[in-house]
Amino acid sequence: MTAQFIIDAAFIVATLLFIYGLKRMSSPVTARSGIVVAGVGMVVAVLVAFLYIADVNPKAEPFLKTNIILGVVALAVGLGWAWWSGKKVEMTAMPQMVALYNGMGGGAAAAIAAIELFGHKAHGNIILVMAVLGGIIGAVSLSGSLIAWGKLDGRINGTWRFPGLQAVNGLILLTILGIGAWTVYQGGAVGPELIAAFFVLSLVYGVMMAMPIGGADMPVVISLFNAFTGLAVGFEGYVIGNPALMVAGMVVGSAGTLLTLLMAKAMNRSVSNVLFSNFGASGEEGQGEIKGSMKPIDAGDAGINMRYASKVIIAPGYGLAVAQAQHKLYEFVKILQAADVEVKFAIHPVAGRMPGHMNVLLAEAGVPYDIIYDMEDINNEFKEADVAIVIGANDTVNPAARTNKSSPIYGMPILNVDQAKQAYVVKRGQGKGYSGVENELFFADNTNMVYGDAQKVMVAMIQAVKSLEGGGH
Ligand code: NDP
Repeated sequence: MTAQFIIDAAFIVATLLFIYGLKRMSSPVTARSGIVVAGVGMVVAVLVAFLYIADVNPKAEPFLKTNIILGVVALAVGLGWAWWSGKKVEMTAMPQMVALYNGMGGGAAAAIAAIELFGHKAHGNIILVMAVLGGIIGAVSLSGSLIAWGKLDGRINGTWRFPGLQAVNGLILLTILGIGAWTVYQGGAVGPELIAAFFVLSLVYGVMMAMPIGGADMPVVISLFNAFTGLAVGFEGYVIGNPALMVAGMVVGSAGTLLTLLMAKAMNRSVSNVLFSNFGASGEEGQGEIKGSMKPIDAGDAGINMRYASKVIIAPGYGLAVAQAQHKLYEFVKILQAADVEVKFAIHPVAGRMPGHMNVLLAEAGVPYDIIYDMEDINNEFKEADVAIVIGANDTVNPAARTNKSSPIYGMPILNVDQAKQAYVVKRGQGKGYSGVENELFFADNTNMVYGDAQKVMVAMIQAVKSLEGGGH
């Protein structure tokens, strides 16, 4: 058995593990093991790449061999950092981390392109085109993802726009494509200054693309950059003839593209609308007057009312994650279930700050999957519910999306919380949702507001119902 055979076989194994891992990620029940499977695939791919460089490939360049120590050190640093940051990251900071890791992937693809182009290694039109495209997309994804990370982490505030921004961006992109086309036309024989300009402009373009986009749209943008990174990695995999990179890149590219489209659809927006219009900033305009008033209710009273309901639907949102109230919430749910109340969770596709945010949060607290429902599967049940309780959600339950044509969120699908006999809304104050619009649900006749931090509110509800049961004996 030759070393080359081991390498080829290992790449096929890694590829199969990536695909199988991704398949398992499609259901919350198998997602955790899917990540492990894909991770094993990645370990196989990395190890075999070392084997390839080390000695078995007679064509491996001395440059690569001498730098193998450097490679091991880089790998150790990356591994240590990822292990440490992965362990300590808070659920609310997960989107930032995804943005950062994704940027690294884009940067790695761009680095491969840089080695190929600066070193005049890429030959042949197809290889050159792939190297150039992967270089642009990877560099854009690196700088754009870093801006996205900064915005989500609160390090970069506000959106940044000026008249003629799109025209400037268009000009930069044309220049990048021009240099790329010239590089291919010249068979790769262009000076280092031009190649450096090509990469610098690509990095600038990534910044210019991400800076004008508001916070609420950032997860969509991250998902788009994720698709970019996949594509760039796939292209560079072709350039260096690594099938595992090609397949992993294409899988990430297509999954990222589908996710981007899905999220845009759930917000009733097109991807170009997300990229080129300023959603959050236009929130206030044209909303119209809202009738009614916000009526507060004591947390304990709301809890006791739910204890005597026969069906309760819970609509969680970003505030649940902020308050880390998922454990207390599930404790309360178990108390309700013990009192024969039917309890279900209703998950809006963009509830929270990243896709699947609520599912992960509830899974962490041990909520069984069979009481968690996607929006389209439960939306018809709200009208049969005695109580619908919204915990730290806002935009995803705003009926204005259904009825108010002048609202900026008009057309976005929402959870039908307003159709329940009684709605409770748990939030800290009268703050607006992420889109910046007022919520008509809070003013409705059948809605009461439970003001307070979600965790404290859940504790108060648990205590009220428990003291009731205790007093009953
Ligand atoms: P929102 O951000 O609209 O609302 C969250 C609510 O939680 C706020 O009104 C806030 O009110 C409340 N809150 C915050 N902290 C706490 C706390 N400690 N205790 C109790 N309540 C708290 O969240 P949704 O989940 O409803 O909506 C998600 C938003 O994100 C939508 O605008 C969506 O379009 C957007 N989005 C989501 C994406 C995704 O992938 N999930 C992608 C792109 C956009 P108060 O300050 O009064 O407490």
